[in-house]
Amino acid sequence: MIVMKFGGTSVETADRIRRSAALVADYADDHRIVVVVSALAKITDQILACANAAAGGDARTLHSLLGNIEERHHAVISDLFPGNSELIVREHIHPALQQLRDFCDALLQLRSLTPQLLDVALPLGEKMSAQIFAAALSQLGLRGSYVDASEILITDDRFGDASVDMEETRSRTRQKLGPLLDSGHVPVVTGYCGSTRKRQPTTLGRGGSDTSGTILGAALQADEVWIWTDVDGILTADPRICHDARVLPEITFREAIELSYYGAKVIHRKAVSYAMDMHIPVRIKNSFKPDFPGTKITAASAGSDGRVRAVTATSNSTLVSLCIKNEFHLAAEILGRLFLRLGHDCVDVLFAMQSSAENSVGLVLRGEDTDRVLASIDRLFHSELKQGVIESLEVERELTTVAVMGENLKRTPELLGRLFTAVSRCGVSVVAAAQGANELSVCFAVSSKSVADVVRSIHSEFFPIHFSDGSDERSTAWNELSAEV
Ligand code: ASP
Ligand code: MG
Repeated sequence: MIVMKFGGTSVETADRIRRSAALVADYADDHRIVVVVSALAKITDQILACANAAAGGDARTLHSLLGNIEERHHAVISDLFPGNSELIVREHIHPALQQLRDFCDALLQLRSLTPQLLDVALPLGEKMSAQIFAAALSQLGLRGSYVDASEILITDDRFGDASVDMEETRSRTRQKLGPLLDSGHVPVVTGYCGSTRKRQPTTLGRGGSDTSGTILGAALQADEVWIWTDVDGILTADPRICHDARVLPEITFREAIELSYYGAKVIHRKAVSYAMDMHIPVRIKNSFKPDFPGTKITAASAGSDGRVRAVTATSNSTLVSLCIKNEFHLAAEILGRLFLRLGHDCVDVLFAMQSSAENSVGLVLRGEDTDRVLASIDRLFHSELKQGVIESLEVERELTTVAVMGENLKRTPELLGRLFTAVSRCGVSVVAAAQGANELSVCFAVSSKSVADVVRSIHSEFFPIHFSDGSDERSTAWNELSAEV
């Protein structure tokens, strides 16, 4: 059994839907398949914009947005389905469109919006795309069967970022999908959403259809979850920076989580965490090259131990440094309060450094979180700043965090030497650095201006191009250099 998830770009247009449905048909003879779909690309953003316009009382913007959403779906349906079946599929998506209109009308009166209210409207894009996809499968002679995830995927009530109740989800999923699969249907489940036990609609966080895929894969004990996308798999580096970036045939769950934390956008971090907890292998596959094996994410991957697997760059990072007066115990208490606050504010710290002799701490943050964190520090440590207990607070912006990762890197003695030699070849100074306590990554921040050179230099250090004469790019460059000397 394979759970196949199709993201927004795989169902963006009638053509893409046709191609994606054909992929399911290719595998449906030999496998039991459950499909999970995202909304048509950008539709979730537009639903969000509708809700904001309505709550803000902007009826004009609202009506033009609603018109666009409706037109786009009708155009896709009209392209995909001839004659009478066009009307039937239109009827299938009509309730979702009507619900969106009614919801926005109510918001125009209410003039307020909460995460719970939003979770009523955000899944409507998936409700439409899943209906269309199921019909597209039926058109190919399969028995596509629409399933609303709110009936089977049960979550807590953290609206906008809900977590699954696995036990309840497992039993409902089996009850609902088991008979469908047994009778030869291909269930097409709405991604991204679920509901609480009280049937309140919930969503799993933006980009959450990957997570729906791994949750359903676990609930059904599928053999694999396939994430269909438009790239070949997980790469050793960003191909826009390194033209020779390569696809990793296999990586571990932990490596994939680390990679998505540090900027690789191929799969949602939460989706990998669920897959890891529930031991379901995940495969990233390119829907334009279905025969290409892609990247398999599993518990242990052959040959990954102690080797650098990938290098990533998170641009727009900021270094916030605090220097605390050198008095006994003061620093620990201040740091404790600071991290507690960051936790409450849901701020991701990319990495942190502390040197106890000088009682200074450096936090490397995502640029978009920085002002919020600075405001929190101002509020939280108002008197400490005024009284000079915190001696200085400095901010350095426009940095990029470079992360090099792989399982058990810490146990690889020559790694740091090779890494920072590669960095120094670019004549760049490192602003901050840390080796992850989890042994999975080494991170450092450099000025954003030089980051492409740094990433390329590291990539060619750890992933040299092999030439047919047995030499590699790095040693060639090195020889040229020594020849000059
Ligand atoms: N449609 C949702 C979003 O745009 C979920 C997803 O695409 O995975 O966030
Ligand atoms: Mg996505």
